[in-house]
Amino acid sequence: MTRGYESLTDEAQLPGLVRRLSPRTIVVDIEPLIAPWNSRQDALELGLSRFVDVATAIESVQVVCFATNSARTPSALPQVPGIQVDYLASARKPLRTAPYAKMPLPGVVIGDQVATDGVLATRIGYTFLHYRPALASMPPGPRLLFAGGELLRPVLFRRH
Ligand SMILES: [Mg+2]
Repeated sequence: MTRGYESLTDEAQLPGLVRRLSPRTIVVDIEPLIAPWNSRQDALELGLSRFVDVATAIESVQVVCFATNSARTPSALPQVPGIQVDYLASARKPLRTAPYAKMPLPGVVIGDQVATDGVLATRIGYTFLHYRPALASMPPGPRLLFAGGELLRPVLFRRH
């Protein structure tokens, strides 16, 4: 099982990091990379289409799967020729792995939480791209989960 790990603090680094990993599948968390916590529907849909544009420019990418443990859903998904775009609400990360079983390897999981996104990445053999935004920008719930994840991180990703 691969335990690749990369971290970034600035979302502008994301396209370069993903390109270097040449994934066929990208599983990406929603809050806060795609849309802020508690943001409106239009912010979610704008974030989805921006991300799909970024992914489309990376030649290796065949599948983009948005996956959030929250229940929020967009009214429509961006359609791009040659790329499969999926959206999982109430994804139950990291417990549920079946939706990713048929997605092509290699893959990356991009997200802010080790306890959900990072554990999911290790379970499905993907590299974890850990987005680490400023703690002050996080609401209390995600901040607490992030703090717990900091304890888990050296156990899951030993080399880092
Ligand atoms: Mg998140």
